[in-house]
Amino acid sequence: MLTSLDCARCGATHDGTVLQGRCRSCAGTLLARYDLTAVDRRARGGLWSYRDLLPVTGSPVSLGEPETPLLPLPRLSGRLGFPVYVKDDGVLPGGTFKARGAAVGVTRAAELGATAIVLPSAGNAGGAWALYAARAGLPVTVVMARTAPEMNHREVTLAGATLELVDGTLADAGARAKAIAAETGAFLAATFGEPYRVEGKKTAWLETFDQLGRLPGTIVFPVGGGVGLVAAHKAAEEVRALGWYAQEPPALVGVQVDDCAPIVAAYDAGLDAATPWEGVPTTSAAGLRVTAPGESDLVLRCVRDTGGTMRAVSEADLTAAVGYVARTEGVWLSPEGAAAVAVLPHLHPPRGPVVVYNTASGPKYA
Ligand SMILES: *Cc1c(COP(=O)(O)O)cnc(C)c1O
Ligand SMILES: [Zn+2]
Repeated sequence: MLTSLDCARCGATHDGTVLQGRCRSCAGTLLARYDLTAVDRRARGGLWSYRDLLPVTGSPVSLGEPETPLLPLPRLSGRLGFPVYVKDDGVLPGGTFKARGAAVGVTRAAELGATAIVLPSAGNAGGAWALYAARAGLPVTVVMARTAPEMNHREVTLAGATLELVDGTLADAGARAKAIAAETGAFLAATFGEPYRVEGKKTAWLETFDQLGRLPGTIVFPVGGGVGLVAAHKAAEEVRALGWYAQEPPALVGVQVDDCAPIVAAYDAGLDAATPWEGVPTTSAAGLRVTAPGESDLVLRCVRDTGGTMRAVSEADLTAAVGYVARTEGVWLSPEGAAAVAVLPHLHPPRGPVVVYNTASGPKYA
């Protein structure tokens, strides 16, 4: 059961029973806290089976989210010399892991009385929130860069959302979405700008815990804003606080592409936060075109705390990884998931078992 929403920066406690955005004292990111004594250990599967660790009370806005596969990759494992699995979230509604955040975010916004939602998106989050908002009957406006994938433009409008295209990057879309929220009173569901989406994304790792019977030794993430990675850190903390798992938490490895690697640059320079990346990225891993990640300090802390690392891969290496994994394992990864695979040969030797996160369905990019 949700007890409060606490600021990740200053620690201030906020009322969990009303719709919240950022911290009212310092504008930091709010994180949900639970009464863990009320959570029992039992076999589960699928996003909503973890409701007692989600900030929701009423009936879920659901599109039938399945428990997603945790597939061993035996040929890749043999080649690398350590066991690798893929957590394949490409099977979720809309074809991406953004469904987890949207399912919980839209559910909470609807049950706490939001009458409209606005969010900036690199593409896939906009699509997921548009679908879940349609399911809930809530109007939503999605602001994207004009250069975002055509597929994402189409899914947003198909789902009846209002699409606004801006010149520039996701950062420009973020500024526009904030202005729309201020003008219209719509709930602003920007990355880390509300405390609910990270909770939905957390369920990938609660599921993985139940599928493996333990937490992974290492989790490799394609990182844009970094919510997915921060969510895994939070899942591991909660599983330990519940007393379900006593080993050290998974090493969290974040992967970006050479075309847009602001958090890797900060990591390599020993900085606490990223500085904005210059230029307009064009990598095929469109979910990673995040030039100015707003909570990079939180991401870097999670990576360093767990003994993980941040690495960048080339476009050629991620393209080769898409082909290799499709040919040898029969799994059609997204370019983002393939970026995470491409970094594996450079991790020596990672703590096993290693789980690579496939954040989207490959065919969505075809
Ligand atoms: C959004 C997205 C990412 C990056 O996720 P963050 O949680 O923002 O780091 C990775 N892959 C895909 C396919 C995405 O849509
Ligand atoms: Zn604060």
